[in-house]
Amino acid sequence: MFDKLSEECGVFGIQGHPEASRMAYLGLYALQHRGQESAGIASADGTRLLASRGMGYVADVFNETELSRLAGTLAIGHVRYSTAGESKLANAQPIRIDCVHGPIAICHNGNLVNADELRESLVRQGSIFQTSSDTEVILHLYARSKARPVDEALVEALSQVRGAFSLALLTSDTLIAVRDPHGFRPLALGRLGEAWVVSSETCALDLIGATFVRDVEPGEMFIAGPSATRSLHPFPPARPQQCIFEHVYFARPDSVVFGESVNEVRTMLGRHLAREAPVEADVVVPVPDSGVCAATGYAAESGIPMRMGLIRNHYVGRTFIEPRQSIRHFGVKVKLNPVRSILDGRRVVLVDDSIVRGTTSRKIVRMIKGAGASQVHVRISCPPTISPCFYGVDTPRRSELIAATHTLEEIEQFIGADSVRYLSLEGLLGSVPTRPEAYCTSCYTGHYPLPFPQEEDVAAQPGVGLHDAPVKAVD
Ligand code: SF4
Repeated sequence: MFDKLSEECGVFGIQGHPEASRMAYLGLYALQHRGQESAGIASADGTRLLASRGMGYVADVFNETELSRLAGTLAIGHVRYSTAGESKLANAQPIRIDCVHGPIAICHNGNLVNADELRESLVRQGSIFQTSSDTEVILHLYARSKARPVDEALVEALSQVRGAFSLALLTSDTLIAVRDPHGFRPLALGRLGEAWVVSSETCALDLIGATFVRDVEPGEMFIAGPSATRSLHPFPPARPQQCIFEHVYFARPDSVVFGESVNEVRTMLGRHLAREAPVEADVVVPVPDSGVCAATGYAAESGIPMRMGLIRNHYVGRTFIEPRQSIRHFGVKVKLNPVRSILDGRRVVLVDDSIVRGTTSRKIVRMIKGAGASQVHVRISCPPTISPCFYGVDTPRRSELIAATHTLEEIEQFIGADSVRYLSLEGLLGSVPTRPEAYCTSCYTGHYPLPFPQEEDVAAQPGVGLHDAPVKAVD
């Protein structure tokens, strides 16, 4: 409905808790913003591994009866937005299989860049796939491994895949958490009494009362078994490539991601933006909810007061029935409404986290002008998005990214703003001061840390002109 890059997935896992599946359910509630297409939980009691999945929100998929069926002291859970594979129940996670190593269930956040070629080769060798998700490739490689025990078979499987993976896996008695060597996607480790917990974001730890211990490190395999925990680093080390867009947009501001408070980073993005792109104005207005932290920073740095000039309706589902007679900008209006008393006659700085295609920004600018604003200056708290993501974020084709195909003046014209300014790459990385070199910024630079086979497809997309530099692989 909104012109945003789509969330990826959220994973959660817990070991050693008498109400493991209920804890997973709560954890998924906190991670719901990372995926709303499907939700699932697998639980284990030392001998059995049970799983349940469904389409929709966590609250729609699970009820008391279903959670009671998911017995045991271990559980993993997943909320999904499809970044690879279609949106259908077969692709919902956890995916559970039985194989020579015993039963196992997997939850994956990220995207494998060599999944297609591995899949093709596996199919040629006789593998039968049940899903169109890249995650199933890991299970096939695992099932075919001659290595023993389970962790060695898993290492053998994961050594063959390339790309982004933060995984929570469950056998009948062990929770395993793994993060790819580049550490694209986050994975936090926590404790709840004697129980071990892993989660895509720390906001899920907060909800269940768990304490954040540390991040699962890039390339680490953390194993919480029945009698002990182990931490392995079985993959060759690689340059860290943590997704900067987690800080810009995806993660909840109350989470700590990659060792930084998302709220603090996002506020700093706004401060840098105010320094780099000042403007004479009367009021700073965030696009709720994702623009609020950056707008707070922009207002604090510029001294211009921030007001909530757009109100968001939080109770809109994924789809709604539109009136037969078309209402202008209905899709945006049902979600956002302008506050005329704040906007009328004012020069407005509108702060948002990104412009993808530009279609929503255009509607919002019109809406604000329609409420009487004399000027609208759009300020974006990250650099122009010029290239697709291949590491687990759903981005449109390059030809659909307005910043890849239009100049700044053309963007201003298209969305009808008096000015549009983006944060620079330096300003972006300056907002994560602890380890700026540890971040992936490929969607802003077109330089990719991991090559991907779709390269030709991207260059060959219809509408991609000669001025679109081919996607480069570096490293
Ligand atoms: S390309 Fe962009 S969205 Fe994808 S992992 Fe890198 S920073 Fe994140």
